[in-house]
Amino acid sequence: ETLSNKIAAGEVVERPASVVKELVENALDAGSTRIDIELEEGGLSRIHVLDNGTGIDPDEAEQAFLRHATSKIKNEDDLQQIKTLGFRGEALPSIASVSKLTMETAQNHKAGLQLRYQGGRLIARSRSKARQGTSIVVEELFFNTPARLKYMKTVNTELGKATDIINRTALARPDVSFRLVHNGKPLLFTNGKGDRRAVLYAIYGKQVAENMLTVSRSSADHELSGFIAKPEVNRASRHYMSVFINGRYIRHFPFIKAIERAYQTLLPIHRYPVVVIAIEMNPVLVDVNVHPSKWDVRVSKEDELLAEISEMIRDRLQKETL
Ligand code: ADP
Ligand code: MG
Repeated sequence: ETLSNKIAAGEVVERPASVVKELVENALDAGSTRIDIELEEGGLSRIHVLDNGTGIDPDEAEQAFLRHATSKIKNEDDLQQIKTLGFRGEALPSIASVSKLTMETAQNHKAGLQLRYQGGRLIARSRSKARQGTSIVVEELFFNTPARLKYMKTVNTELGKATDIINRTALARPDVSFRLVHNGKPLLFTNGKGDRRAVLYAIYGKQVAENMLTVSRSSADHELSGFIAKPEVNRASRHYMSVFINGRYIRHFPFIKAIERAYQTLLPIHRYPVVVIAIEMNPVLVDVNVHPSKWDVRVSKEDELLAEISEMIRDRLQKETL
């Protein structure tokens, strides 16, 4: 069991940013309205994610560290229409197998449980103070997998990757308050009041936030909404385009190309827009079970969706330049 978790970790836990992603997804799945993330040394030495979600019943907390022990899907039908960010039941056992992990979880402001794992082995179990939600501390990631540790980049690079995920998650969920602190220094705060423009402001600053146009469009299968930058607010990298499906940040290049097509004649070469598009659609039409990292998706009738994205943006940009 410990060994197979360690092998699974190879796919799920690539670097500190992947730990952050999995822990934040779990916090969101638990219905949290407030998520605090504290990193030390880009997450290489310490990652702390604190949420105010449902917590885990002390009697079931150990189960969460068993492989494939997800509480989120129960049968084939559920797998065909995934409504949560997690569903594979691999993250916690994988992370615990390659780090020193401490979880404290409690429900309904009653006494909770603290569990400590080292390299996947449970080394301590005790009662914890009454609270609401879950706190997970991951220390010394990859301390027992030197080959993986060797591949870690500088603190700044690792921090950049973690920050990128947190920023996009905050954009995907303006209804949740996120706080990110690195080495004691606050890097991001969003108030969780549901205003996506306010999140854009918190991440990209005033100039960008004030120069974004709202877009929306609906069809039989999709509900699209978001913000697109005026062409003059452009960037030298593709990093500023984000697409979410049902609250999940997706890395799927055809979506990015669809956005770029709409800006085609409006931007200089190698310049890219700031764009945030949220797509709501029936989960039956989205397959997120493509890779353990859940970055990529397969969408039925993808060409139609891509055309809707391009047209929505093109129409809005045309209106603006009239
Ligand atoms: P998955 O998210 O795919 O179900 P994980 O390994 O990420 O698998 O988590 C295992 C289980 O632990 C989850 O199904 C959930 O029941 C529980 N869990 C993990 N993190 C939290 C959290 N922050 N709050 C409440 N429950 C959690
Ligand atoms: Mg999960």
